[in-house]
Amino acid sequence: MGPEHPERPDRIRAIERILEHERFQVLLREQAPYGERDAILRAHPEAYVAALERAAPTEGIVELDGDTTMMPATLEAAMRAAGGATLAVDEVMQKIVANAFVAMRPPGHHAERATPMGFCFFNNAAIAARHAQKAHGAERVAIMDFDVHHGNGTQDIFWSDPTVMYCSTHEMPLYPGTGAASERGEYDTIVNAPLPAGANGDVFREAMEIAILPRIEEFAPDLVIISAGFDAHRLDPLANLRLVEADFAWATKKLMGIADRKANGRVVSLLEGGYDLEALARSAAAHVMTLMGT
Ligand SMILES: [Zn+2]
Repeated sequence: MGPEHPERPDRIRAIERILEHERFQVLLREQAPYGERDAILRAHPEAYVAALERAAPTEGIVELDGDTTMMPATLEAAMRAAGGATLAVDEVMQKIVANAFVAMRPPGHHAERATPMGFCFFNNAAIAARHAQKAHGAERVAIMDFDVHHGNGTQDIFWSDPTVMYCSTHEMPLYPGTGAASERGEYDTIVNAPLPAGANGDVFREAMEIAILPRIEEFAPDLVIISAGFDAHRLDPLANLRLVEADFAWATKKLMGIADRKANGRVVSLLEGGYDLEALARSAAAHVMTLMGT
């Protein structure tokens, strides 16, 4: 994204470093492949993908919006983020692995059908959900997004799709400005639980318990996708919630419980935001440890 941008390569380095710990050595690790064009086209129109390809510079930086820029390697990273998401879906749906976490960047949940924004180009969670449906026969997919920002892009893509439930907790008011509880989608499958600045883990857990978890349970998804942003952490510089690692682990465990009861345990988790490197690494580690069942 360019120098001094919060969405930076060190984010993935910090996660990779903490996952080198002995307790994670049993994990199967794979390099994210390039995304298949057909998989990306299930969430974005052809003209949008072509426009991004045209915009991608061979040198220097081009600005797509005030905080979303492309460098020569950006398109490959975005393609591999999408490819990592669909590979995770493939392996979870084929029972090669019980669940999967994709430490990817750029993130995806702000990318709308035909608009890149908020550091996002391809909506990885949307691509993953549609891939589970089209390539693996999943009927219903639930996406839980606990990134501190509202996933306007994911909401946009599934607004009129009753087969995908999109749920989000997020600080409000905050970028991007969407995500009021009254935004429920054409088929009441969008579930927004905005939280006020300063809200801590107790407030987050209560919102999950009351507004979100019963809705996902009732929806009975065949796959649970987590848009796992860790910028609701109290140390994050981009927002003002006060979650800690244990809150992310708690939410992960609750979602795994629903997946166990409704979806044969199938969970695919995709990294979104998280901009304090220490908090990001520790939160991702707590999240992955929970996914491992430890
Ligand atoms: Zn975020």
